[in-house]
Amino acid sequence: MIRLAGVGASPGLAMGVAHFLGGRVEVQERRIFADEVDQELRRFEDALARSDAQLRRIQQQIAEQVGDGQEYRILEAHRMMLADVHLVEETGKIIRGDQVSAEWALRRALDQIQVVFASIEDPYFRERRSDIDMIGERILRNLLGMTPPGYEGVPKGAVVFAHDLSPADITQLGRAGVSGFFTEGGGRTSHAALVARALGLPMVAGVRDFTKHIRTGMTVIVDGGRGEVILEPDFGIQERFADRAARDLVQAERLAKAREAPAATLDNVRVQLAANVELLEEIPVSVELGADSVGLFRTEFLYLERSTLPTEEEQYQHAVAALRAMEGRSVIFRTLDLGGDKMPTSVRIPTGNNPALGLRSIRYSLWRRDLFRSQLRAFYRAAAVGPLRIMFPLISGVAEMRVVREVCADVCQELARDGLEHDAKVPLGAMIETPSAAMITDLLCDECEFLSIGTNDLIQYALAADRQDENVGYLYHPLHPAILRFIRAVVKAADQCGKPIAMCGDMAGDPRFSWVLLGLGLRSLSMAPRQIPMVKSIIRSTRLGEAEKLVEEIITLRTEDEIEEVVNRTMKQRFPLEFTEES
Ligand code: PEP
Ligand code: MG
Repeated sequence: MIRLAGVGASPGLAMGVAHFLGGRVEVQERRIFADEVDQELRRFEDALARSDAQLRRIQQQIAEQVGDGQEYRILEAHRMMLADVHLVEETGKIIRGDQVSAEWALRRALDQIQVVFASIEDPYFRERRSDIDMIGERILRNLLGMTPPGYEGVPKGAVVFAHDLSPADITQLGRAGVSGFFTEGGGRTSHAALVARALGLPMVAGVRDFTKHIRTGMTVIVDGGRGEVILEPDFGIQERFADRAARDLVQAERLAKAREAPAATLDNVRVQLAANVELLEEIPVSVELGADSVGLFRTEFLYLERSTLPTEEEQYQHAVAALRAMEGRSVIFRTLDLGGDKMPTSVRIPTGNNPALGLRSIRYSLWRRDLFRSQLRAFYRAAAVGPLRIMFPLISGVAEMRVVREVCADVCQELARDGLEHDAKVPLGAMIETPSAAMITDLLCDECEFLSIGTNDLIQYALAADRQDENVGYLYHPLHPAILRFIRAVVKAADQCGKPIAMCGDMAGDPRFSWVLLGLGLRSLSMAPRQIPMVKSIIRSTRLGEAEKLVEEIITLRTEDEIEEVVNRTMKQRFPLEFTEES
């Protein structure tokens, strides 16, 4: 039995047969038109650059950990292969000569190289084939947006492990009946983790060196709450696992009983609990779990799981379907939040040296106005069907919000000219995700009808700690005194301006933080649907004064560890059933 530590990315327990996902990428022949050749060549160059950047990063990590070891030199060799004439020039030649897609051309170039290697007699050089394979598959994955194939072979109930998984992998594997995941890369707020949480599938990320220990077919337990993976658990552990799973079920049944009851404190302070969703399939679950509304509909997934762009009509139908499924409750659609950690295959996003600070999110939408306008047209049209709101991600200042509003006004005029039914009075909101937006909440209030704090990004930008980078995960902390001050200031400014303020980052759905958020003045929280019953249960057993007292105490403390200690102790004392030693 071996225990591997990682980061709890999605809570819950799963036990099953381990299945490694990382096989050969299947590529179909795809012919292109002559005027698409340049675009395919650019896609290929882009994939090479991304592969090189990834290898450079791994190289740096290994160099820091083990010095200039063997693996380090292999990665250097892999990076050199990215410039290999047989690979690069041959792929370009095939794209141009045969007018085929970059991935098909690359697959053919790789196959040609493999034939040459297969005929080499020296076993050492023949073995280098696997290096070509690894590098080739990496470029192909980057070309295809890291969507590994081969879901069909994964048995139902299996626990899938991989170096990395995309949101699309989680979605499709979840649908195929997989019971849990663990990965070497990623973190708590990667989009793969968000989707796993949304679907209620346990996941542990950032598990180092697992390939040394685990093979497909082993029995494995994934503990998404603790961030632990147990390989070949002994009988006693398996029994404990079964006990905990049974207890979780009892608790879920208890919480489900309060489904119809409002989320109000014992002294009758009403809190709005909304759902964060990515997929239409999650809406019935959200209603079932007691969501008052959808507080954040992430629309990227309409773009991420495919190689062509969605049309305006498709987006309109999608929004209408969401509104209908919510049966009169409001839905806040967030405009495209592409870039950074969300890279689509259907469009090219210039990444720059620092994607998190680059052309992502609303910046990308304002750069690709055609995409932005098509999405806005769809939303304004759908608003004629039900209570829809539009929210804009990563707003950094008033000027940006004004440009956004101008585009919205222009889109409405265009719809009127086209004679299409729409509602031009849709409320518009800004996400508070950058320190600049947080500092000028009062000014943004004049430009918006509502605001919502996106803590996942706000924490990353306020603490300058990449939300995806497990090396700086120790810095990324929702209870950092700076984050508490930001939240307090934002809520106060919005309240003074009389503008609705919500929180839709992950912090909102963590029941350990419910008192902190109530005490800081928040009355509207949007979270992964599965978190709603537990957060509601905490709120319904709380007097507002208790939460305010906790905040008064922690706001004077100086480090996130001190604050966490007080918060955990207080919550465990007050809610022993909800926060057990094991939770
Ligand atoms: C956030 O940043 O808190 C947020 C809700 O947006 P996302 O996680 O999609 O970036
Ligand atoms: Mg965000």
